[in-house]
Amino acid sequence: MTRTAIAVAGHTRISRRGAAMLSRWTILGTLGCLAISLAWNWLAFRNMDATALRQGLISATVLPIILAGPLFFYLTLKMRELASANHQLAELASTDHLTKCLNRRALIANVERMLEQRDHVAQGALLVIDADHFKQVNDLYGHHQGDLALIRIADVIRKCVRQGDLVGRMGGEEFAVLLGGVAPDQAVRIAERIRQAIASTPLDIDGAEHRLTISVGCTAFSGAAKFRDLFSLADQRLYDAKRLGRNRVEAGDGTSETKKAG
Ligand code: GH3
Ligand code: MG
Ligand code: MG
Repeated sequence: MTRTAIAVAGHTRISRRGAAMLSRWTILGTLGCLAISLAWNWLAFRNMDATALRQGLISATVLPIILAGPLFFYLTLKMRELASANHQLAELASTDHLTKCLNRRALIANVERMLEQRDHVAQGALLVIDADHFKQVNDLYGHHQGDLALIRIADVIRKCVRQGDLVGRMGGEEFAVLLGGVAPDQAVRIAERIRQAIASTPLDIDGAEHRLTISVGCTAFSGAAKFRDLFSLADQRLYDAKRLGRNRVEAGDGTSETKKAG
């Protein structure tokens, strides 16, 4: 809630912009009703004597103000509340509750949308990131500490990428990141930066230090690409990284391989 938010009707708080919209619709709606009411009355009673016409026009002025003003105010307020609730619901439905990054479904949908906008993302890379030996964290320190470690991994990833990049939790201790507009070597540098940031700061769990590491599979693309193909390639690289000893980044140029896989 912004500092400029104001209270409406005692309980609903809306921003100054919302309040301006509320006033605008209330005033315009009331004026519209007033114009229609006056026009109708004048057309219907214009042939009557001046007193009757004047009284008709007075009630045609007063009634819309009394009825339409509060009605438009109430309806606009409810519409804003509905829009805001819809927005919050959409955010909830696309956010991973633990790490606050995108959930699997939202990440896939967003990546696919981004890949379709070719002008926007002519090239880029997909990283698949998995925490190493994560089961140990739960086994040694409990599930809650495991959850905190996942939150930390997500925070580090977010800090290492740019704002427009997409970060999602694919499930469990696995994350995926779409880096837009990066060349393959840049993507590897970013993946390395994430890996080092995690590896260089051990978890501090009740005074005990636990060295957490991640493995990363990276696949770059240029031109047309599909999420399914990119993910499959990055996942293979991740598997290689695990096989080759973990705490490492394995990368490949996805351009030709994507075509093969497609
Ligand atoms: P590897 O290096 O091969 O990836 O080993 P790993 O132990 O990380 O992989 P494994 O698939 O054997 O175990 C994953 C663990 O991640 C097991 C599961 O309990 C834990 N995990 C998955 N989701 C969550 C979660 O939301 N919270 C916590 N605390 N742990 C989770
Ligand atoms: Mg793991
Ligand atoms: Mg895993």
